[in-house]
Amino acid sequence: MRIGFFGGSFDPPHLGHRALACLAADQLHLERVLLAPVGRQPLKHGDAAPFADRVAMLELAIAGDPRLEVSLADAPMPDGEPNYTVDTLRRLRRELPAGARLYCIMGADSFLTLGKWHDAVGLFAESDLVVGARPGFVLDHAALTLPPGVRVEGLAEDRPGCRGYTVQHPSGRSMLYLLPDLAEEVSATEIRTEHAEVDERLNPAVTGYIRTHGLYRARIANRNQNQGR
Ligand code: ATP
Repeated sequence: MRIGFFGGSFDPPHLGHRALACLAADQLHLERVLLAPVGRQPLKHGDAAPFADRVAMLELAIAGDPRLEVSLADAPMPDGEPNYTVDTLRRLRRELPAGARLYCIMGADSFLTLGKWHDAVGLFAESDLVVGARPGFVLDHAALTLPPGVRVEGLAEDRPGCRGYTVQHPSGRSMLYLLPDLAEEVSATEIRTEHAEVDERLNPAVTGYIRTHGLYRARIANRNQNQGR
């Protein structure tokens, strides 16, 4: 079985997240994609919407595609510590059926910060990586972004919409897949600081949830105040 793991803040989940999850499933023939809202993202500071709200919005955002499911694998840690993707992947691998192949999915911006991730080398031992293009982030020199000890051996697959490289790392070999055709001009930060309630970059059910639960109002009000509106 081929299973994708797609972690993120999903604050809120938008059409770019769904597009990346679906494209990865299409290109890599994934039977399941686990979308896992993160309890505490190690590289992000500031308040996120409550975990339960992000889980509920993600359920709404992925509805209709049976390959996509919300996972609580990255739920907040009992001691409030950050969630590290490599630890989550290790735990998942222990829980998944023997023979399951795990694909860690992320956007180009996340991939370009890999050098700052906790045990980034370990990620390659636990899973293959799938990286979707994102407007404004150049993936041309992806190999240069790899952490020390990880190197691209060569191009193993080159088909429309997907390039697959074999990667060597201290505990063996894995694959790095680049999906260069994704072009979703959307970010959660923009949605939070603009008026999320009427946003066409969100699933309408997510927009409804944001409105009903009054999410992001304080941040939007602050933005308006700072701009003197
Ligand atoms: P923020 O603006 O708050 O950083 P975000 O829109 O990047 O949020 P996250 O939940 O942080 O959303 O992202 C989760 C994952 O989805 C990351 O790996 C990110 O690179 C990827 N991603 C988010 N939006 C896009 C997009 N428009 N295109 C491709 N990948 C994306």
